[in-house]
Amino acid sequence: KVTKKVVSACFAGIHCRYDGRHNAVEAIQKLIREGEAIPVCPEQLGGLSTPRNPAEIVGGDGDDVLEGKARVIDNQGNDVTDAFIRGAYETYRIAKTVGANEAILKEKSPSCGSCCIYDGTFQGKTNPGAGVTTALLRRKGIKVISEDTFSEKRI
Ligand code: SF4
Repeated sequence: KVTKKVVSACFAGIHCRYDGRHNAVEAIQKLIREGEAIPVCPEQLGGLSTPRNPAEIVGGDGDDVLEGKARVIDNQGNDVTDAFIRGAYETYRIAKTVGANEAILKEKSPSCGSCCIYDGTFQGKTNPGAGVTTALLRRKGIKVISEDTFSEKRI
C-alpha cells in the first residue's frame, strides 16, 4: 500500500515561493511522479499572492500562532496571520482528502518549517520551532519531516 504524503509545492519545482522561485528536490519530484505525494503551498492556499512579501512569525512559533499568542508579520509590517492560518487548514483539508498521514515540508519557512523557523527579525536568523502549517498537521496526527530528514533517511 502506497503511503500518501503531502509535500511543499516549492519542492516540486512550482514557483510558489515568496520571491517567485522554487526549491526543487529531485527525490521529492519522483515521489509525486509515482503517485505517492501531492504538492501543496499553504501560503498560496491561504490566499496570498506570488510573489509576496517575505513574512516571519513574531513572538513565538506556529503553535503560538494557532493559539493566538503570536502573529505572522511581513517585512512591511502587514499582519498576514489570518492567511497563514487559513492556508494551514486548507493544507490539512487536502491531506485528509487524499488520506495522507505524512508530510515533507520546507525547513525554516513560517508555514512549513519543522525544526526551526526564522526568528521574526528578518535577519536570516532562526529559532527552534515549527511553522503554522506544520504545527496544525502535527496536532491532527500527521507526521511532518523536513527535506533534510527525508534525505538522511534515504542515505
Ligand atoms: Fe514552499 Fe511552504 Fe513557502 Fe509554499 S509556504 S513556498 S510550500 S515553503
